[in-house]
Amino acid sequence: MARILVTGGCGFIGSHLCQVLLDQGHHVIALDNLQTGSLGNLSAMLGNDRIEVLAGDVEEPLAAIGPVAQIYNLACPASPVQYQRDPVRTLRTSFLGALNVLDLARRCGARVLQASTSEIYGDPEVHPQTETYRGSVSSFGPRACYDEGKRAAEALFHDYARMHGVDIRIARIFNTYGPRMAVDDGRVISNFAVQALRGEPITLYGDGRQTRSFCYVEDLVRGLVALMEAGPGMRRPCNLGNPEEVTIAELAERIAGLSGLPALIEHRALPQDDPTRRRPDISLAVAHLGWRPRVTLDEGLRRTMEHFRALCAPRAPAQTAARCSAAGPLPPRRGPRLPGPAPGLVGA
Ligand code: NAD
Ligand code: UDP
Repeated sequence: MARILVTGGCGFIGSHLCQVLLDQGHHVIALDNLQTGSLGNLSAMLGNDRIEVLAGDVEEPLAAIGPVAQIYNLACPASPVQYQRDPVRTLRTSFLGALNVLDLARRCGARVLQASTSEIYGDPEVHPQTETYRGSVSSFGPRACYDEGKRAAEALFHDYARMHGVDIRIARIFNTYGPRMAVDDGRVISNFAVQALRGEPITLYGDGRQTRSFCYVEDLVRGLVALMEAGPGMRRPCNLGNPEEVTIAELAERIAGLSGLPALIEHRALPQDDPTRRRPDISLAVAHLGWRPRVTLDEGLRRTMEHFRALCAPRAPAQTAARCSAAGPLPPRRGPRLPGPAPGLVGA
């Protein structure tokens, strides 16, 4: 049994990762500031005496954590709506979070995995994206806080490996979806699913011909664990994602079909710097981790719709109309706040 720190452990991916690590018999510390995550994501695990939930911010040194064998650094908002809400904070979280987990890893000799992103590639000129492609990222657009923050974190990881011998792993995660995504997350699958189930128009940005490749969360978490457990040859960035590529218009149709309600589409402007297409080349993960996704998009969407169906009742027509005319940013995030600015034990 290893003692493992998961920063961002109350988030969408983090909570699924905590569950898998607990199932493997490990002692898990989930550190989170609940900026976009919620304690509810861990509710099924809180009775387990091998999980500790700590209120804490990765922007602060992690001295109170104690020795750990492995660190998964997932703490960072991932939805464009959420990370653009306070871009300076997003940059701080990416860089200082990486710095603090690397310092902790250096102190206790832990292996540390960074949750990097396909955003490293920006709006790519190379398709599908291989790890050797250096990307096409705007350093000043609205997505830069996230893209450049994650790029700086990757650079810092490599520098700690070279300068201090820290044992690093870097997962370049492509669009991931599944149960426990928040209703107000703002990313495409949660938006479309919630809108379709409520009988509201689906907000399609641009002409819908832009593509993404969606990975079901269970597959992604299996990949993260495989990468963490891989040998020293994998101290280099590794794509994790599902190469099944769809246009966003097709995604809207599939989700509308699963909702069982009539499909209504509301066209909205394409956000600035929205990548035109995205698909991972996963040859490296297949060859060195023996990993590939197993859950098809249709099956993953079906499971995800069940999650949202339990949360979303169709709205009355008057409410629907009011909501649809209110285009603009989502309201501030919901959910309880963990007590105190300093790390403190919440559940164990
Ligand atoms: P999420 O927003 O659900 O989870 C992020 C978690 O980090 C939340 O619980 C949030 O409260 C916490 N957090 C944010 N800032 C923090 C801070 N300063 N200190 C402590 N906790 C903090 O997002 P997710 O989809 O689960 O993403 C997890 C990680 O994976 C992120 O680092 C993200 O960049 C990366 N990633 C996700 C995707 C995806 O499609 N889901 C794609 C690429 C990369
Ligand atoms: N998108 C959309 N409607 C929405 C949310 C997103 O059409 O309500 C589009 C968005 O413009 C992008 C794609 O869906 O082309 C994926 O967006 P998301 O925010 O999920 O993640 P991204 O991959 O852009 O970071």
